[in-house]
Amino acid sequence: MSGVIDVGARVPRKLTLLQRLYYPEIVRGLRVTIGHLLRNLANGRRLPTIQYPEQRRNYSGRFRGRHILKTREDGTFKCVACYMCQQACPAECITIVAGEHPRVAYEKYPVVFDIDMLRCVFCGFCVDACPKDAIWMTRDHEMAFFSRQDAIFSLDRLREKPEDSAKAGYGYRPYYPGDGTTPPTDAARMPVLPGSGERDRLRETRVPLPGRVAGPGPLNAPSTANRAVNPSRP
Ligand code: SF4
Ligand code: SF4
Repeated sequence: MSGVIDVGARVPRKLTLLQRLYYPEIVRGLRVTIGHLLRNLANGRRLPTIQYPEQRRNYSGRFRGRHILKTREDGTFKCVACYMCQQACPAECITIVAGEHPRVAYEKYPVVFDIDMLRCVFCGFCVDACPKDAIWMTRDHEMAFFSRQDAIFSLDRLREKPEDSAKAGYGYRPYYPGDGTTPPTDAARMPVLPGSGERDRLRETRVPLPGRVAGPGPLNAPSTANRAVNPSRP
């Protein structure tokens, strides 16, 4: 038939005597394998193999690794539990439970914020979707787990730590300058965009809501408290 490759026609219908003897075919395969081995031994210095972890590949400036949740100066999470990252996540690996924050300006905060790192595809959509610049990704990709449970990062493990930037630096996020491919050296000090805090100040001074305490709120509840909110969660 014209235009159609008949794959079946290329497969020998009948095995030859040598093929049916089996051992000659094994020897033929071993000859190829041993040939590659000898060639590589002779050209050890030019092997494309990277001797990890002593040698490491340079990743692109757009690389995205483990997530962190950014905090305000008072130690509370910047996250306002708006669920936009959860909605944007194609792997559906983010679980958020919102609580009412005692500070009017913050409105809500995440009582539970879990990311299942084994389901995450590190696309960064959650970072792009966040209106508060509250979730970032680092360039750290060295994560090993002994159980599925280990791979679920909750608030304690997601909270940003000083060593996050020192260890691997920050991954791409939309507010990087230029074309976004080059992380600034002082990413941690970059102004937070969007939202300069003006709206927060207006809400605190002009829209006092009954039953809310305006003023410094407590630190967000540690994730151990999460279990009381959603005891079915592991
Ligand atoms: S990086 Fe992508 S897959 Fe991973 S949590 Fe964010 S949106 Fe979901
Ligand atoms: S999009 Fe940002 S503010 Fe909203 S829930 Fe996710 S991390 Fe929190």
